[in-house]
Amino acid sequence: MYEIMTPGPTQVHPDVLASRSCWAPNPDLDPAFLHFYHQTAQQLTRLIGGRDDYQSLLLSGEGMLALEACVATLTQPGDRVLILDNGVFGAGFADLVRLYGGLPMVYNMDDRRAFDPVALGIYLEHNHKFKYATMVHCDTPGGILNPVEQLCPVLKRHGILTVVDAVASMFGERLNVSFGLDFTCGASQKALSAPAGLSFVTLSPDAQDAIRQRETPVSGFYLNLQNYMGYHQSGEFPYTMPAHDIQGLATALRRVEEDPDRYSRHDLMARGVRAALERGGLVLHPQNGFSSTVTAFQVPAGLSDKAILDTLRQDHGILLANSFGRFAGKLLRIGHMGENCQREKLLRTLGALQQVLSDLGFCVSEDLCETFSRRT
Ligand SMILES: *Cc1c(COP(=O)(O)O)cnc(C)c1O
Repeated sequence: MYEIMTPGPTQVHPDVLASRSCWAPNPDLDPAFLHFYHQTAQQLTRLIGGRDDYQSLLLSGEGMLALEACVATLTQPGDRVLILDNGVFGAGFADLVRLYGGLPMVYNMDDRRAFDPVALGIYLEHNHKFKYATMVHCDTPGGILNPVEQLCPVLKRHGILTVVDAVASMFGERLNVSFGLDFTCGASQKALSAPAGLSFVTLSPDAQDAIRQRETPVSGFYLNLQNYMGYHQSGEFPYTMPAHDIQGLATALRRVEEDPDRYSRHDLMARGVRAALERGGLVLHPQNGFSSTVTAFQVPAGLSDKAILDTLRQDHGILLANSFGRFAGKLLRIGHMGENCQREKLLRTLGALQQVLSDLGFCVSEDLCETFSRRT
């Protein structure tokens, strides 16, 4: 066993684990399940600022399912799609769009900075013939947080629908979908701290219209969000819903609801981690757009990410993450979201990190735990 301090999957609270082991109603035949599913989905919608005319769907599958389901359901062959790319997940949307016959146009400025709504507005003045745009709230591999509540209204002014990957930010970062977010994707295993296996899509009224109005058939069954529309009236889901997973989700959502300091704690802990690393002489990857759920920093020159992670896990029982895609081998990441986001856990993590870096030949310029303690 080791302490999981990665940016997802995160640590799971015993109450969440326990509720997944309780008896559950039959999801195909028992109206009590339909009611439970609907209430849980509505609670999720409320917690991310959705009004009564917003609707959340709980899908059985890991976070990528939500992203792919949105793209599969929205994209008709030949559709032009704007891809906001300043990280690995941002770029990944272009591949999904291509798979479903769309034409991705990549908007890429600087991998170390968040997108600027003003610059996007200027770009859109001359380039706005897009059916929808994709963006990532927190692009985890580089740890960049994009201001989606300011970016989406700029796109909506040009009639462009928005797909937002909020998998790594939802419930660790304040998020209000009523600021022009049409398709908002989340998942169970990040800041919500439930086991991997569920993803969510929250639909604005415009998103629901777009799904209903699609003319050509969706090339996919599992990915087709049309199959969910009207489930509450018909009482029918496209396939058997994972009742025990949703019980865990409901418990995790209740923990969010009963945690009024949640977002300020995430913010404070993240600031403490960033200050500790910077004062210690490490280099943060983001130059702005700092995330409250994950901190990505550069692997010190001459060291290997793998050696650092292996030593941390084997000698100190703490698991951190490296990065992947265009950042493979270059960055390390601390996930301080959900159940990971506790002062004592982060103190242990920073203490161990300092020790391992020093064992491997990099001495920090200021004690990490001391800075963190002072700031938190
Ligand atoms: C974790 C994550 C997902 C889900 O993808 P996996 O790599 O399969 O875990 C999607 N988007 C973002 C931003 C994520 O952090």
